[in-house]
Amino acid sequence: MGERRIDHYLGQLLDEERFEFYRAVADFADREIAPQLLGWERAGGHVSDELIAQLGEMGIFGIPIPEEHGGQGGGLTELALMGLALGYQSHSVAITPGAALSLGANPILNHGTTEQKEAHLADLATGSRMVVFGLSEPGRGSDAANPEVVAERTDTGWVLRGEKCWSTNARWASHVIVHAMTDPDGRNGHRSTCFIVPMDDPNVHYSEMSGKTVWTLSSTGSIVLDQVSVSEDQILGELNEGFKVMVTTLNGGRLFIASLALASLAFALDRVRTYVQEREQFGGPLARFQRVQDVVLEMDLALDRNLTWLITLLDRYAAGRLDREQASKVKIDCSRAASRLLLDAMEICGGVAGLDEFGLSRHHNDLFVTRVGEGSNRALMTQIARGLLPDCGSILQ
Ligand SMILES: Cc1cc2nc3c(=O)[nH]c(=O)nc-3n(C[C@H](O)[C@H](O)[C@H](O)COP(=O)(O)OP(=O)(O)OC[C@H]3O[C@@H](n4cnc5c(N)ncnc54)[C@H](O)[C@@H]3O)c2cc1C
Repeated sequence: MGERRIDHYLGQLLDEERFEFYRAVADFADREIAPQLLGWERAGGHVSDELIAQLGEMGIFGIPIPEEHGGQGGGLTELALMGLALGYQSHSVAITPGAALSLGANPILNHGTTEQKEAHLADLATGSRMVVFGLSEPGRGSDAANPEVVAERTDTGWVLRGEKCWSTNARWASHVIVHAMTDPDGRNGHRSTCFIVPMDDPNVHYSEMSGKTVWTLSSTGSIVLDQVSVSEDQILGELNEGFKVMVTTLNGGRLFIASLALASLAFALDRVRTYVQEREQFGGPLARFQRVQDVVLEMDLALDRNLTWLITLLDRYAAGRLDREQASKVKIDCSRAASRLLLDAMEICGGVAGLDEFGLSRHHNDLFVTRVGEGSNRALMTQIARGLLPDCGSILQ
């Protein structure tokens, strides 16, 4: 499809070292993922173990993990650049290391004890095993502060029971971070605790969720906890402060999800620019119709504007100055703009855009996840509206 338009913008926004890192990952995606992607999807199944091993060898699974724990010593900016580079071809591939790091390794990095960091981070940095983020449950999606998974105290520790679902990377996971109710009578937001639970415990039952039409190559599991015994040293963070662990983890995760949304927009922009200049109707290329040009221009404008915003917020995150509302807003706006424009992009290409080989319908489906994942957009909008319209707080629950 020629040069990526997004590279033009990233070249202006990034320093040379970061741009080269982004390009190296993008080259890998063009070479090793793009030519095989359709075949993998048509065959069903998941991201292959070989591809995970290749990503591990490239250091992708170690991006934000400190060098002392075997990682690359990078940060969320490098993680988001990986999301832009791999997500351009496939969200499913990008989210595999993406969730493993932003949702699996980061909570251990930010809230783990020295022993927990030593037990997990070196393996996570290679991708040889992964940790899953167990927040969502069948009955607790957006309303996640009060989990139905319960942890009950025993003489020696705790016993967990209940079910987690939508657990990305469950297939490859050695452990799941379980968000469980520990003090139902406590203050709101201070009733739950996170536990690091091994997936090979005989009372932990994992099954792959079936019928998924989004992120199709990614593993998404249901995890049933049937009286699982855990000890005090498996608590991640403070007792009854589990929601804080989950929420602070999601802030960074939302910037990663925004990068996936922009990766789709970038792919669609390049696909459409090529196609509308080649396809002829009424005696010439589609690109000469102003209505077609308007869509291309709007996509370009949205990419330029949102990418600049995202990189600014990544810098703010690195400086420890990103608040929850800003992380939500950029996730909301990138995912909404990209998914709306994806449909316009498909429309100006015509029927061919409905074929899997054209590449746009995959991104259209995958963008749906960016709208509901890491906090559904509308639930996040309710939180923002509560701050904007405090006198209406009681009806904005
Ligand atoms: C592919 C995929 C991977 C995922 N991976 C993970 C993972 O690794 N770990 C994990 O814990 N979870 C994961 N999730 C779950 C995801 O975080 C939830 O889907 C999300 O939090 C929304 O919860 P829900 O789907 O139960 O929707 P619900 O909470 O049932 O909400 C449905 C809809 O109702 C509306 N709504 C809800 N609350 C409000 C409100 N307060 N104000 C206005 N409107 C509202 C919104 O439109 C929302 O989309 C994943 C989801 C998907 C699809």
